[in-house]
Amino acid sequence: MRLYVLRLGHRPARDRRITTHVGLIARALGADGIIISGDRDDNVIKSLEKVVELWGGPFEIQYVEDWYSLIKRFKENGWELIHLTVYGLPIQDVIDSIRSSSKDKLIIVGASKVPRVVYELSDWNVAVSSQPHSECGSLAVFLDRFFQGKELSKEFKGWKLKVIPQTRGKKVVRAES
Ligand code: SAM
Repeated sequence: MRLYVLRLGHRPARDRRITTHVGLIARALGADGIIISGDRDDNVIKSLEKVVELWGGPFEIQYVEDWYSLIKRFKENGWELIHLTVYGLPIQDVIDSIRSSSKDKLIIVGASKVPRVVYELSDWNVAVSSQPHSECGSLAVFLDRFFQGKELSKEFKGWKLKVIPQTRGKKVVRAES
């Protein structure tokens, strides 16, 4: 099963930091890649690519202009579309059903207003509490509930830098080239 994140509606002036964080969370918490839509922003793509180069992968980073065709294509190819939204069904009620399907999964998060068609095309509209917060918070909780904590010990490949956990202080090792 593959799991990708689709970040809708990126606006470089407002969302650069948060879209980068959505990408960092997706990578760190077990997704196979992120697809960014909205205004093209090479700064975000480059900074995520740099993280993969230094800290490992695999983790794919793509930009797509036409998100509507993309989600239609994913759906036609048998992917399950899971849209994270405050208006959806509570995650605690649906996560077991979502996990029980072996279909590939596209997790959709918004920035500003998400078009109605996304709610309609999605197989699941999922709320991480019925209170408004953020795409970073909802994605992190969703991935952790979906992978049941196993994502926290994921081993990354091809890293140049790796943190060695310490009780106190910082230890980072560099791969021998
Ligand atoms: N007002 C916008 C709308 O109408 O869709 C949402 C803006 S919110 C800052 C940005 C994104 O955070 C949403 O598109 C959604 O993906 C996510 N989000 C915010 N609160 C959420 C919640 N309680 N559950 C799930 N996702 C949430």
